[in-house]
Amino acid sequence: MANILAVGIATIDIINRVSRYPKEDDEVRAVSQTIRRGGNATNTLVVLSQLGHQCAWSGVIIDESDAAIVKNELAEHQIDFNHCKVISQGKLPTSYINVSESTGSRTIVHYRDCPELDFAFFSQLDLNTFHWVHFEGRNVAELKQMLSWLKTHYPHLPCSLEIEKPREGIEQLFSLADVLLFSKPYAISQGFSSAQHFLQSLTKENIMTCSWGEAGAWLKANDKIIHCPAFPPPEVVDTLAAGDTFNAGIISGLAKQLSHQETLEYACRLAGHKCGQDGLTNLT
Ligand code: ADP
Repeated sequence: MANILAVGIATIDIINRVSRYPKEDDEVRAVSQTIRRGGNATNTLVVLSQLGHQCAWSGVIIDESDAAIVKNELAEHQIDFNHCKVISQGKLPTSYINVSESTGSRTIVHYRDCPELDFAFFSQLDLNTFHWVHFEGRNVAELKQMLSWLKTHYPHLPCSLEIEKPREGIEQLFSLADVLLFSKPYAISQGFSSAQHFLQSLTKENIMTCSWGEAGAWLKANDKIIHCPAFPPPEVVDTLAAGDTFNAGIISGLAKQLSHQETLEYACRLAGHKCGQDGLTNLT
């Protein structure tokens, strides 16, 4: 099993279920409220830890009361957060989500007053004990320095990069990571309507995946593209973080040196299984 560091964010999701979405200036009572940790990098770690890997997170923690929600959940999954930058000012990125039971709509107000992890902090970390580093594709300027640093100072340490959303200049990072994990929305934003055509258009040498919801996922390596269909659960319960789970499956398979076909199938099975249950706990 591998020792894996993920760089990215943790968020707080406050989910209020309401029987109907309120009108402006209305006052309604929520049917239920759930408060939980979110964030792609930490989601992927929660899955990787359940697969038996030793996991650590590097990101920014704001020293405020809600930080306990993040820390408690990571601790429950034995995820080390000693590689985080802790600051006293600000607010952890928070999503206030109103789910309407009458329409199923999700209206989200997002608030953040939290800087991204900076290269100056990252470059001080001792990465010698890690076998894999995973990055969430967010702050391009800082990430470019982190990925270049890794290539120079830890040339044998494999790294993966998640590209979920188009961000200005993010293409500059593609040649700096060993594994690129693309989402369907990113491929669509680039003008493609299929994962296969999108991956074909990229001429880089890296291993690349592109997940496509119920159509499964594609992987490109050595100029060869392979596909694996999705594994639908008996009942689709919750698809939130299916992509983060898929990415964990890919990282785990590659870190364990499974073949590309085995890795892709494993990731699709795991993500399909996740869709059949609420949340990310008790996946295995
Ligand atoms: P995201 O969560 O980022 O939107 P996707 O929707 O592409 O990511 O899902 C990631 C993977 O999860 C897919 O490649 C597929 O294997 C699996 N998956 C997603 N939705 C379903 C579904 N309804 N049934 C079975 N598997 C699914």
